[in-house]
Amino acid sequence: MSFKRMEGFAGSIPQKFADNKIPKCPMCGTTDPHWSLDERRGKLMSLDPEENANKYLFKCEKCGCILRAPVTDVVGVGRSSLLSWQGVAKKVHGKQVGAIYITVEEVGNMQTTDLYKGKEMTLEELNALAERI
Ligand SMILES: [Zn+2]
Repeated sequence: MSFKRMEGFAGSIPQKFADNKIPKCPMCGTTDPHWSLDERRGKLMSLDPEENANKYLFKCEKCGCILRAPVTDVVGVGRSSLLSWQGVAKKVHGKQVGAIYITVEEVGNMQTTDLYKGKEMTLEELNALAERI
């Protein structure tokens, strides 16, 4: 695990996603989270789409919270195609195919409880949460 900013071409999609779609940290409320990125490979042998999907991890510079999103959601595959494996898996799990799902991996040092740890929500819900801080 080594979080870093991805300013280059290869990292520009997830970096832009984090900077543009999550402008305010949902855990500490800073409007300058300066997200750093890491990528986690899924378990290849798992049939569970949640486990075998590659994930991007976004870390807030201020509070250290870590958000997790499927690579397919970030680059748009899991959202745009109903026939994609990720899209089908979402339907099976009762999720909205068109939504981006974010999981709170670590709540960071601003949280006094682990209330949101491991909680999965849509990007809209995450941003609504950020607005309440
Ligand atoms: Zn934060």
